[in-house]
Amino acid sequence: MMETRIIKLNDYCRTEILSDADREKLKEAAEILKEGGLVAFPTETVYGLGGNALMPEASERIYAAKGRPSDNPLIVHIADIKDLKPLVSEIPEAARKMAERYWPGPLTMVFKKSPLVPSRTTGGLDTVAVRFPVHPAAMELIRLSGVPVAAPSANRSGRPSTTTAAHCIEDLTGRVDAIVDGGSADIGVESTILDVSGEEPQLLRPGAVTKEMIEETLGIELAEDAALKGPLAADVRPKAPGMKYRHYAPKAPMQLVMGKNGSEAVAPAILSCLLESIRKGRKTALLCSEECLRELKALDSFPEKDIIIKPGGSRRDQYAMAHDLFELLREMDETDAEYIIAEGCSEEQLGYAVMNRLKKAAAWQILYV
Ligand code: AMP
Ligand code: MG
Repeated sequence: MMETRIIKLNDYCRTEILSDADREKLKEAAEILKEGGLVAFPTETVYGLGGNALMPEASERIYAAKGRPSDNPLIVHIADIKDLKPLVSEIPEAARKMAERYWPGPLTMVFKKSPLVPSRTTGGLDTVAVRFPVHPAAMELIRLSGVPVAAPSANRSGRPSTTTAAHCIEDLTGRVDAIVDGGSADIGVESTILDVSGEEPQLLRPGAVTKEMIEETLGIELAEDAALKGPLAADVRPKAPGMKYRHYAPKAPMQLVMGKNGSEAVAPAILSCLLESIRKGRKTALLCSEECLRELKALDSFPEKDIIIKPGGSRRDQYAMAHDLFELLREMDETDAEYIIAEGCSEEQLGYAVMNRLKKAAAWQILYV
């Protein structure tokens, strides 16, 4: 176990102008990165677990700290568009267009890698995933470190990603050199991953730069990786090894209930799942929108006293849903729930990213009604 320093930034570290005091604190964290140490830091999506991307030993330490299999590639973070070129062997036109519009921001792009990037960082792949975050503290930390920063999400492998410093402290104390506390992450789900290394661009992971935005920018119908559509068959090789691992999962098994045509049928279907789960003697938790909860409470047989209720916000507020998602999944783990029933939401825009995480968390146990 190593000592983990907590570096607390001002609450306004997410505004464009970083205070001088915060910049001083980030210098200390940047020094740790430069020397091959590990620093968890805030970004606009989720917290990242950073290490010097050009040092294979730093990448190895990231895998060890997360408890992540080392064939799962890391995303390399830059703080200036000029820092892209040395990392990649070519920059396709689609990447140029996307970078111009959405960088810095919650978009990761996968390129053919240059020899500069160690294969320890890319999990042995000949491609590299690159992101240019917009969070001012993340940007300044990377800039001050003077190196590209490899950073997967700052959670123990298999657990939901971390969206607050408190989550990082819970998962990574004693396993990293420092945790930069920059408050809660604005977006709450990980970056969009767009693969531009092949013939045509392909969506590998939905995020806040939505599929609709990419299609509009590139004027194409975007291809999607098979892993977004359902569980991968045993004989299908995933695009990135990470896609085969269990992800985001709360400890209890989870069932997702989705409305095929709108939300009317959802509350009654959730009610019957709840009643059945309770009849089987399981302590059951419910994760749903405030609208759904209202509808459920209007039904006489709603077993309120027998279940654990974690109401989310409004089903119309996709931003709140994304922002609260991982926190709610972590809260589930603090209860004694043996089974979780969750309400699905619309898959348009940011909803697609939220549903992608929920489907994985539910291990594709989905009831369409
Ligand atoms: P995270 O731990 O949430 O930051 O996610 C990192 C994920 O980025 C990995 O699990 C991969 O799915 C993806 N990724 C990173 N590098 C590559 C790459 N070279 N090709 C495809 N996907 C990648
Ligand atoms: Mg992750």
